[in-house]
Amino acid sequence: MNVVLLGAPGAGKGTQCKHIARRFGVEHLSSGDILRENRANGTQLGKKAKSYMDAGGLVPDDLIVEMMADAIGKTSEKGFVLDGFPRTVNQAEELDKALDDMGLKINAILNLEVSESVVIERITGRRSCPACGAVYHIKNMRPKVDGVCDNDGEKLVQRPDDTSEVVENRLRTYHKQTAPVVDYYKKHYNVMDIDADAKAEEAKQIIFDKLESIEQK
Ligand code: AMP
Repeated sequence: MNVVLLGAPGAGKGTQCKHIARRFGVEHLSSGDILRENRANGTQLGKKAKSYMDAGGLVPDDLIVEMMADAIGKTSEKGFVLDGFPRTVNQAEELDKALDDMGLKINAILNLEVSESVVIERITGRRSCPACGAVYHIKNMRPKVDGVCDNDGEKLVQRPDDTSEVVENRLRTYHKQTAPVVDYYKKHYNVMDIDADAKAEEAKQIIFDKLESIEQK
């Protein structure tokens, strides 16, 4: 099963993709995570992506499409869930072409709908573990000990692009370049809108129900 998860920054794509990957055995492909990994490893791609990411803008389409097509090509026949990609209409078109070349198709597109005030609260309160990648929130998903990862005791950090100054730019980028991707898919596919203002657990159940009905077809 191949799934695309759409939604603004802070809509909960990462959290829901982790649940989907665990429940359905598909691979979670997060463009943001792959870029951060490239930066941490000092690759050419990581170096090229840095300035765009730090400013809250988008990394150029050609770099992203190649990176994601490569990642999709390495997944097993169980499938994948895309998180953070595609983020422009051009990326969506290029993804369609790449999947066609690989003989693959998208089985489900979920669109997490979230209000702006919820997004800002979620993103600016987000803290993550630099070692294992676990994600917490200073109010809604607190670690057992403040500022410390439950899994490995590492000190939690705020992603540099999660600060309130950068978040505003990321949201502007979303409205200008990524929101049209939802319209693109609505023209070509059956897109399932999900209320993502709700608690993550409720949204998860709605998503599971929808994907289970697709899996049984
Ligand atoms: P994320 O973790 O998905 O919020 O992504 C963090 C940053 O990585 C974004 O603000 C962009 O700068 C960059 N990025 C991630 N995915 C894409 C994409 N599909 N296209 C362009 N830039 C991306």
